[in-house]
Amino acid sequence: MGLNALNYDDQGLVSVVAREAQTGEVRMVAYADRTAIERTLKTSQAHFFSRTRQKLWKKGESSGNTMTVREVWIDCDGDTLIYLVDPKGPSCHTGANTCFFRELDSAGRLVEGSSVGAAPTLLRLERILRERQASTAERSYTKSLLDGGPTKVDAKVREEAEELGQALIGESDDRVVSEAGDVLYHLLVGLALRNISLRDLLAVLSKRFSKSGHQEKASR
Ligand SMILES: [Zn+2]
Repeated sequence: MGLNALNYDDQGLVSVVAREAQTGEVRMVAYADRTAIERTLKTSQAHFFSRTRQKLWKKGESSGNTMTVREVWIDCDGDTLIYLVDPKGPSCHTGANTCFFRELDSAGRLVEGSSVGAAPTLLRLERILRERQASTAERSYTKSLLDGGPTKVDAKVREEAEELGQALIGESDDRVVSEAGDVLYHLLVGLALRNISLRDLLAVLSKRFSKSGHQEKASR
């Protein structure tokens, strides 16, 4: 299925979900016509079609908050695309990183100001860790680790890694999963301690698996 066979609606549009390549966070949803998709593929910059202004629109043309598109994916029935993007700056016109910063609770009420957002699990975890890091009032395990500094985090990372190793050697899958979770959590605390973002870690990982196995081994 190429550009001709896309399932355009009666206005010649398909829906586009712009998702951050590195973290998996959905940044925005908009529409694209054929020209917008062609322009996107040709320039690697996200283009859409504005229904309100009825014209082609390059993301960031006025704000500067562009999106570089790495890949374009198409759904089963051809009426929706995913742009996998590296966003520059916030993606929403309100200044929020993502347009999805409000939640509907189970009663259908609007909840503003959720700090973790609709993000994927690891990104949520990172945001919760950063919140605890910034909080002065709240006592938490995370806070006590961070206050203990690198020596304390080092001891915990080693301890958890050893427990994971033991679980891998001779314990149940449940134990392996649980210990792997502990390792990941403490690893993220270590990154928070150094003010390194999860995005930076994921960028290193995705660089590795985009190379061939041989190159990947050699680069470690
Ligand atoms: Zn928005």
